[in-house]
Amino acid sequence: MASLTLDKVRKAFGPVEVLKEINIAIEDGEFLVLVGPSGCGKSTLLNLIAGLEGSSDGEIRIGDRVINDVHPKDRNIAMVFQSYALYPNMTVRKNITFGLEIRGVSAAERDKAVADVAKLLQIEALLDRKPSQLSGGQRQRVAMGRALVRDPDIFLFDEPLSNLDAKLRVDMRTEIKKLHQRLGATIVYVTHDQIEAMTLASRIAVMKDGILQQFDTPQNIYERPNNIFVAGFIGSPS
Ligand code: ADP
Ligand code: MG
Repeated sequence: MASLTLDKVRKAFGPVEVLKEINIAIEDGEFLVLVGPSGCGKSTLLNLIAGLEGSSDGEIRIGDRVINDVHPKDRNIAMVFQSYALYPNMTVRKNITFGLEIRGVSAAERDKAVADVAKLLQIEALLDRKPSQLSGGQRQRVAMGRALVRDPDIFLFDEPLSNLDAKLRVDMRTEIKKLHQRLGATIVYVTHDQIEAMTLASRIAVMKDGILQQFDTPQNIYERPNNIFVAGFIGSPS
């Protein structure tokens, strides 16, 4: 696991500036939650960290290592999306281990890895099923399993629970919190859900129109919002 720094990061698509000088630094093991209205640049920010998009300016570092020019495959970052993107024709086991297999990890090591994450995520009984035989929550666990087996430095989550019903969302929120505590993982987590943000985050970054409005602890965001927008977004009475 590792610290993550975004230093004056900007991103433009053609003439449109989508991220404007973003400065964020989180410690090893922090749970950063990124919130903001649709279209404000949250997914773009995750894509820059993952290396799926290049930044227009600024520096991105994992620990002391500048990763701007590091290929996505060499960043050791795992991403979990809102759509689970499981391979429909593969079993759960294969979905989880496929990435390891193409990286040349031995069968014995793959078996060990899948057994470990299956236990952690309580999906041991599901390993021989296909994705179509799983509930939404189970699929999301498998998607998380696929990220976990890679033992990444940093996890990126892009609205991972937004396709689930309310009850399941609460259950999964608790699971993710436990997982974070157990692994001490460094996480950047995008959500629309302010309760999710307040309960999961070590710090929250509030964005609007590609500008960071506030980057602070949940308590400070709630009690001392920088401006009306932050107050309104988090639902503080002030
Ligand atoms: P969010 O995840 O906060 O909803 P996004 O990061 O997906 O927002 O998008 C931020 C802005 O950047 C939007 O206006 C979107 O249309 C634009 N955008 C995202 N990806 C691209 C792209 N590949 N090319 C051009 N514009 C893009
Ligand atoms: Mg998005």
